[in-house]
Amino acid sequence: MSEVIVIGGGPAGMMAAGVAASRGKEVVLFEKNEKLGKKLYITGKGRCNFTNKSDVNTLLENVVNNKNFLYSAFYTMDSERLIQFFEDLGLKTKVERGNRVFPASDKASDVNKTLKKYLKENNVEIVYKKIKNIETENNRIKSVITEKDEIYYCKSLILATGGYTYRATGSTGEGYEMAKNLGHTINDLYPSLVPLDLYERYETEKLEGLSLKFVKIKVKNPNNEVIYQDFGDLVFTEKGVSGPIILSASSNLKDVKDKNYILSIDLKPALDYDKLDQRIQRDFKKYANKDFKNSLNDLLPSKLIPIFLNRTKIDLRKKVNQITSDEREKIISLLKEFNFTIKDYSSFDEGIITSGGVEVDEINPTNMESKIIDDLYFAGEIIDVDAYTGGFNLQIAFSTGYLAGLNV
Ligand SMILES: Cc1cc2nc3c(=O)[nH]c(=O)nc-3n(C[C@H](O)[C@H](O)[C@H](O)COP(=O)(O)OP(=O)(O)OC[C@H]3O[C@@H](n4cnc5c(N)ncnc54)[C@H](O)[C@@H]3O)c2cc1C
Repeated sequence: MSEVIVIGGGPAGMMAAGVAASRGKEVVLFEKNEKLGKKLYITGKGRCNFTNKSDVNTLLENVVNNKNFLYSAFYTMDSERLIQFFEDLGLKTKVERGNRVFPASDKASDVNKTLKKYLKENNVEIVYKKIKNIETENNRIKSVITEKDEIYYCKSLILATGGYTYRATGSTGEGYEMAKNLGHTINDLYPSLVPLDLYERYETEKLEGLSLKFVKIKVKNPNNEVIYQDFGDLVFTEKGVSGPIILSASSNLKDVKDKNYILSIDLKPALDYDKLDQRIQRDFKKYANKDFKNSLNDLLPSKLIPIFLNRTKIDLRKKVNQITSDEREKIISLLKEFNFTIKDYSSFDEGIITSGGVEVDEINPTNMESKIIDDLYFAGEIIDVDAYTGGFNLQIAFSTGYLAGLNV
């Protein structure tokens, strides 16, 4: 019989196990992979952006779903304390653009090593086995059962099995099933921070790799209502779009499949309609005797020009000085609203994070304990919380893991 069992050796589970053990608990951590923190190794493109050096309000502002649930977790372990936690364990850290914090070595493996060292120093026992079921008695945690039907008894349990994306790292969703079998509600799962596929593949295939800087995007529903907007950079993929503003948009748009949402790109957000008209007239004066197809070089990146020209439906060989004001208007409209139709997420598995999961109303936010089963706690991505990029998701994993480990 162990005092505490933790299921899941990702950042949330490692933090929870280490903290509980540092407070004198006898802890067993179960991980089904051959090593701990498999997803952690690929975070931040292998550099691990493990938090964002900012105050609690900023951390909360960057949470997309159920931010209020994280209030106690962030106040108990804010980003300063998390950085200090790692520094105390010997990990040198550095802060980059946008307050993103990385290990000074630029190696995610060093964050993993530091967590493993923390587990070792606190005598956490690590068992590399997959848990398939959790058993209860009189509404209290009793035991866990491995896939080979071995039973491990415990007094308390922390469920930290992660989300449902990048499944090769171990996030295959058994935790949701186990929580559901114990009576918890699992809110619908969606990939979040994920590229979007567009119907206009015949165009995106040609635009692949093109980055658009400082553009404005609007996402509109079929009733032409704006449901999301943002300003920044995007990049075309073979099947659609990605880049910072698209990933953030995906976090805010649940269930995009078959919704026929319009992605409207304002290619010239700094110029209003009149200013853009003046600008085009200047360009057209400069290129007055050229063919229309050779008149947009100052206005648009070269990769975009053929697609744009095609959409104007203006004769490509028409001389620029013969372009009518109606045709100019059409050009301006296209520059301000270069539209595509969203088809779907690029793939569920490519989501950096899973949106949805264990309903937060069924978890006590001050200690991460289940309100349904005694002595059951949750930590990390399995909970229905998700945030933007910038280190916020790992901060959630560490803060909720810390709070669960502290209270178990
Ligand atoms: C490509 C990529 C890059 C990312 N970069 C960043 C970044 O730079 N900054 C940031 O803040 N966030 C980043 N994230 C998000 C971050 O990785 C997650 O928020 C974080 O890993 C969640 O931690 P977790 O411990 O809850 O889950 P996980 O890291 O998924 O860990 C869960 C663990 O539980 C184990 N497990 C599952 N089921 C069982 C079972 N039945 N029995 C035993 N063990 C089980 C799994 O094998 C896994 O090791 C990135 C994600 C991806 C995919």
